[in-house]
Amino acid sequence: MEFNLNSTVAAQATTTYSELFALAGQNPKLSLLEKAWWSHYAYWDNDILATGIITFLAHEILYFSRCIPWIIADALPGVFHRYKIQDNKAPPSVKDQWSCVKYILAIHFIVELPMIVLFHPMMEFFGLKYAIPFPDLKTIAIQIAIFFFVEDTYHYWLHRAFHWGPLYRAVHRVHHQYAAPFGLTAEYASPWETMLLGLGTIGPPLVLGYFTGEVHLMTVLAWVALRQFQAIDAHSGYDFPWSLRRIFPLWGGSDWHDDHHRYFRGNYSSSFKHWDGKFEFLSFEKFEVR
Ligand SMILES: [Zn+2]
Ligand SMILES: [Zn+2]
Repeated sequence: MEFNLNSTVAAQATTTYSELFALAGQNPKLSLLEKAWWSHYAYWDNDILATGIITFLAHEILYFSRCIPWIIADALPGVFHRYKIQDNKAPPSVKDQWSCVKYILAIHFIVELPMIVLFHPMMEFFGLKYAIPFPDLKTIAIQIAIFFFVEDTYHYWLHRAFHWGPLYRAVHRVHHQYAAPFGLTAEYASPWETMLLGLGTIGPPLVLGYFTGEVHLMTVLAWVALRQFQAIDAHSGYDFPWSLRRIFPLWGGSDWHDDHHRYFRGNYSSSFKHWDGKFEFLSFEKFEVR
């Protein structure tokens, strides 16, 4: 990693994370997050390892912590049942939730961890940046909006393909095990589905980075976090009067994706509604799974 503090020698001589953080503090222009970022890379002194640790920890912490509000909602039906979309179904049992956690952890460690370890060399190959300072908020926001649109398009077509009989049986059936989804089921999918749909999340930043040289790892982490939140919320099984879809009508949200799990048909995109219903003439309906 390129240090822009001109203190690489001092950094190597120090050992603790807090000493490195104090050293980064010598540059008054850095934000708290930038100081922590620099200290992290200096501490590990191995960029592949440092990127892997940030990425994997962010994924685990964000995934399971975003599921906690939905676990609480399922545990308090007296308060939240009136917001449940499939209100004729019982909330998931503790046994259901626990078996889902175990499966997701296995997928995270066996499928996603190797992809995360490979991400740093891929990121360097595609010209993504990871040195401080971070890009400005406007750049981050515009790039994330592009990633949302491109991922949604990729997701729509691949998801439709997954509903073609042979692919459904070989790959996508696992994700449809829960006809009434709950937050934790967002990443409940076969390893092949995790890898193929995951390409739609990490591919757009790599391609944009390759052509512009202006994509930063921090933007990728923020994008992946928002995409995780979107997927977990879409599987929550709850729709509130303050849900995003009511403010932003193009947004699918839980109401949209819950129907896909309930009826096995339609609503194939991940975030937005605009693709759905426009390409019925290309439908392989007779081969799709009802
Ligand atoms: Zn599906
Ligand atoms: Zn789903």
